[in-house]
Amino acid sequence: MVAAASKGIGRAAALTLAEEGARVSVCARNGEALDSVVAELRGLGVEALGVVADVSCAEDLERWHAETVDALGPVQVLVTNTGGPAAGVAGSVSDEAWLAGFDSTLLNVVRLVRLVAPGMAERGWGRIVHVTSLVAKEPSDLLAISSTLRSGLMGLTRLQARELGPNGITVNGVLPGHTLTDRQRHLAEIRSAQLGVSVDEALQMNGDLAAVRRLGRPEEIAGAIAFLCSEQAGFVTGVNLLVDGGATRGLG
Ligand code: NAD
Repeated sequence: MVAAASKGIGRAAALTLAEEGARVSVCARNGEALDSVVAELRGLGVEALGVVADVSCAEDLERWHAETVDALGPVQVLVTNTGGPAAGVAGSVSDEAWLAGFDSTLLNVVRLVRLVAPGMAERGWGRIVHVTSLVAKEPSDLLAISSTLRSGLMGLTRLQARELGPNGITVNGVLPGHTLTDRQRHLAEIRSAQLGVSVDEALQMNGDLAAVRRLGRPEEIAGAIAFLCSEQAGFVTGVNLLVDGGATRGLG
């Protein structure tokens, strides 16, 4: 199951897992975009399912999980991708935005893990990867909600790894750096207005923050996700892996 997978990093993760031979179930809120990803997945020769679901809604997640098990069998791999929460500095974001961010960034993860963990435990094998952000380690002024919740999610990842490890389930986080997707373009538009530069220049500025001096590609984040979902990664758990082209300087 790959959540929020009609575009960007989620879509790339679904396609990379399919290239590895996995049957893949994807969800997103927009049926049309989802259909085209399902067609791409089937084009790779694997069974695929798309279910319209909002990751911030408990009933949607339950329905997505039930339909996935019905169509494709027990869930072995879960990627809890999600849309980024609303941007804004800490003092300016509304209570509603904080609460919506909590539902779509943190509670979704708790709920999805609760749904898949019993089945994984029964078979003694499972891989769970949370897609979060480099702002978990280096808070961003513009991304107060994301920075706060994703730091918390790092702790949750460790807790879930401890809780589920005895059942053969690993739980890890992937923390993408600046990666060229619709979300990155949206944030570049905000910074372009703030700084009086073009959107392309704003994108370039984020690329320049990385040691490799460029933005990441969604497939590069997906590669790290696929490794953590693999048999080979069985002794890696509770890790929050930066995949940021060397943008983050802190050693923590
Ligand atoms: P994106 O906007 O390109 O794609 C997000 C996907 O999530 C889309 O398919 C969208 O339809 C889906 N989605 C959004 N809200 C949803 C919801 N409530 N329910 C179901 N589906 C939903 O974003 P992206 O750049 O691929 O980012 C994915 C995640 O990675 C986000 O959480 C983002 O904060 C994080 N991230 C991205 C970057 C980056 O530079 N792109 C950097 C750090 C972290």
